[in-house]
Amino acid sequence: MDFSEKVLSLVKEAEAALKERFDEIDRISFENTKKIMNLFKEHRVGDAVFNSTSGYGYNDRGREVLDEVWADVMGAEAAFVRHSIVNGTQALTIGLFGLLRPGDILFSIAGKPYDTLDEVIGNSGNPGDGSLRDFGVEYRQADLLSDGSFDLEKIKQVLTDEGDRIKVVFIQRSKGYLNRRTLSVADIGEVISFVRGIKSDCYIVVDNCYGEFTEDREPCAVGADMIIGSLIKNPGGGMAESGGYIAGTARAVELASYRLTSVGCGLEVGATLGQNKSLYKGLFYAPHTTAQAIKTAHLAAYMFGERGLGFEVEPKWDEPRYDIIQSVITRSADALCAICRGIQAGSPIDSFVTPEPWDMPGYTDKVIMAAGAFTQGSSIELSADGPLRDPYTAYLQGGLTYESGKIGIMSAVQETMSLLEK
Ligand SMILES: *Cc1c(COP(=O)(O)O)cnc(C)c1O
Repeated sequence: MDFSEKVLSLVKEAEAALKERFDEIDRISFENTKKIMNLFKEHRVGDAVFNSTSGYGYNDRGREVLDEVWADVMGAEAAFVRHSIVNGTQALTIGLFGLLRPGDILFSIAGKPYDTLDEVIGNSGNPGDGSLRDFGVEYRQADLLSDGSFDLEKIKQVLTDEGDRIKVVFIQRSKGYLNRRTLSVADIGEVISFVRGIKSDCYIVVDNCYGEFTEDREPCAVGADMIIGSLIKNPGGGMAESGGYIAGTARAVELASYRLTSVGCGLEVGATLGQNKSLYKGLFYAPHTTAQAIKTAHLAAYMFGERGLGFEVEPKWDEPRYDIIQSVITRSADALCAICRGIQAGSPIDSFVTPEPWDMPGYTDKVIMAAGAFTQGSSIELSADGPLRDPYTAYLQGGLTYESGKIGIMSAVQETMSLLEK
């Protein structure tokens, strides 16, 4: 890979400007690593927890201890983490179906949830397929205001008018595929207090995807009843081969566990098939890997933003981050595709292929995705994607190591520069 003088000097300038930010990211990574190592000690994590089970997986000590450690790491009463949860969408589905019953209302207060939940909720897809709507669960939504803050008036109105039927208040921490602000744990805490002030007896569920370990606490610390995420994002540390988790209050996690397996069986079953070690190791790496990804995102913001290629970026290079996603608003399908091509070419795996837009299951618009990852679809590894719709935003995330993330971003910047110079 050869980089032009322009790219090399821009990266040098960026790293000098980002020094202070990077120090703060290292501090958070250190605190979270220390927390995890202390918990490993407290829970006596030793060689035996790496043992494997098959069949029903009864008495799998490794699985049980990991659930306990995970709960403590997340500041929750209980948790489960399973390699057999196929993705974040399934983990969210388990959580929502675990809590909601016919006649209940699901109320999303941070705008539209992640695209793949549309069909789960029943806002798109085929009636009869078994969405929440098919089971008599209704949906309400309060959008975020234009400055990215919560619409407290609307939230209050819905909670007051339909409060007795609202079972789940849903908050997505990360921006996902939307041009909105990512919520900090403090933001989430404030809105939870607000909701609790109006209605105390509902479950507050946070889609925690991409947020884990970006701060030194998680949403359970500020009163969330349930947080949900994917192991091929931050908390798998780039080590977990697949999986998802749910953490929260004892009752909420118990209810979800009955959807994970069956009512009655809950968490007492589930063979780990040799995956325990990579889940423990992934958790151990997770704060560090997340830090690598956040540094990569800052670098991308600098190089694609006002001091570099001049795109609108969110967040900006010098803003604090609460997830690992960097949006670059390109306003052109060509630029979006160029960024993805560059990321792909600057990846460790599959660097020789060219990404093209395609109709992806679960998504409404065509999507282009660049991912040269060791684990298929892993977005804690450097990846870039975006739906082919206005304003053609590229969402960049991940970077297993800052060094490789930097190479990927430099490659994407170079590819986009040559497009712009044409
Ligand atoms: C990734 C993600 C999900 C789940 O997506 P999967 O691809 O199914 O893992 C849900 N919500 C948000 C905000 C996400 O970033």
